[in-house]
Order: sequence, then C-alpha cells, then structure tokens
Amino acid sequence: MRAPTIPADAIKMSPSKLSLINPDLDPCERCFWLTHKHEVKRPSGIFPSLPSGIDKQLKAYYGRYREHIVPEIKGKLQGKLYGHIAQLAVWQNNFKGLQLYIPKLNMVFKGAIDDVLLNDKKQFSPIDFKTRGYPLKAGSPDYYRLQLDSYNLLFKYNGYEITENAYLVYYWPECVNAAATEASGVMHMKFITHIQEYKGLDGSFALSVLKRAREIINMERPPASHPTCEYCIGANKHVETVRECMRKPEKPTQKSFQFN
Ligand code: SF4
Repeated sequence: MRAPTIPADAIKMSPSKLSLINPDLDPCERCFWLTHKHEVKRPSGIFPSLPSGIDKQLKAYYGRYREHIVPEIKGKLQGKLYGHIAQLAVWQNNFKGLQLYIPKLNMVFKGAIDDVLLNDKKQFSPIDFKTRGYPLKAGSPDYYRLQLDSYNLLFKYNGYEITENAYLVYYWPECVNAAATEASGVMHMKFITHIQEYKGLDGSFALSVLKRAREIINMERPPASHPTCEYCIGANKHVETVRECMRKPEKPTQKSFQFN
C-alpha cells in the first residue's frame, strides 16, 4: 500500500506535544493554542539530563535480550522483546519513530517508543521506561495513559496488531550496593523495578485528543487559560507592574554624590 502524500501545511503532532491538552491532567488549552499558532511556549525550567541518560542505558541493556525478557521483569509481562533490531531502531529514533497521517485533520502524528513486546499471536504491546527519584505515590494523576494509547494508535494505523495492553517500567534508586562497589571499585547503585500495566488501550483516547487538538488550532481567538497556573499569574503581574510604573511621571535624574 502506498503511503499518502503529506501536504506541506500538515500539522506535526507528537505524544509529548499532545500532553499539554491531556484530559487526565487538568490541561490548559490556551497554552496549546499559543504554542501551535504563535510559537509562544510556556517557560521551561532546567531539564535534568539524568533521566534521559538512564533511558539510553536501559535501551542498550534491553537490546541484549531480544526475543527474551530482561531478568527483573521476567514473568510479569506478556510476550517477548521484539527481535527485529533494525525496525526497532527506527521506531526508537526520535526523528523517525512511528508515523501516521490523518487526512481529515491534516495532521502528522509521530512518536518514538522505548521498546515493544511481541506475543505468540504476533500482537504488539509498547513499553515505556520511567525513571524516578523516589517510589510511586498512591493517588497521583495518570500522566502516561495518553502517551501509551498514542503508541497503540500508531501501531494499529501502521497495520500492526496490538494486544491493547501497554507497560510502564519504572526504575528508582534504592541504595548503593556497598559490597559490590568495594569488590569492583566501581559504584553499583541498586534500582527498584516496578511495572504498571494498562489494558484496553485501543488508540481511541489518543484519537479523540488529536481531534480536540485540531479544533483548538482552528480557533481564531485564544481559549480560556487555566485559572490557577502560576506562569500566567506571574506573567500578568509582571506586565501590570511594569505598566503601572510606566504611568508614573519620570523624576529628574538625581545628581551623583560629590565628595567636594
Ligand atoms: S495559564 Fe499556564 S498553562 Fe495556560 S497559557 Fe498561561 S502559562 Fe500556559
């Protein structure tokens, strides 16, 4: 089947861009609108490089277990790690990944996976690694359902069968293994592994958010902002304060202090 021709004005979307309007997370549609229509982004803090460094090492570590499963998650997931290394490398590549063009929305949706399982029925289940500093807290919002459903949508619309399951594999540090460190002279950090399984992710949730994304991008005027967002509250205060100061008449410049 020939891939459809993608128009030059097609909107480029990814699971991370879509997360701005993730209905699971009390989103702000104005921020999404500003980002996509006017390239005005919310300020971002300093991004720590440790999680992406660990992600890279995890991918290499999982790479040694193709058509098997890594020891710490053995028996806890359905299927084996997908064995076609060249294809997996494309799907893991942020510049390539899995791609889908949706003509009705004139939108290209692209996402790169961390890894994927294949079961005996040739059905895929994506895996995403999450590194944290501390154990998971009960009752925290579901940050990643949309991301995982997006991967299932991408697999499905690229003609692959999916289980409708997906997995988050969390790693967080527990302690330094002093005995192993002393014996080898190299720091050994012990990580706890925790698996969170998702079921019933058929891509329809991600598709509904993509449709909403198109509606927001089509809006001529900005949608409402989030009422308690500190960024907008802070930015508005800055603007008001500067305006207020500018309205005051300028005082003559004081003469600099003279010694004599
Ligand atoms: S309220 Fe926050 S999230 Fe919304 S537009 Fe303002 S900065 Fe962005």
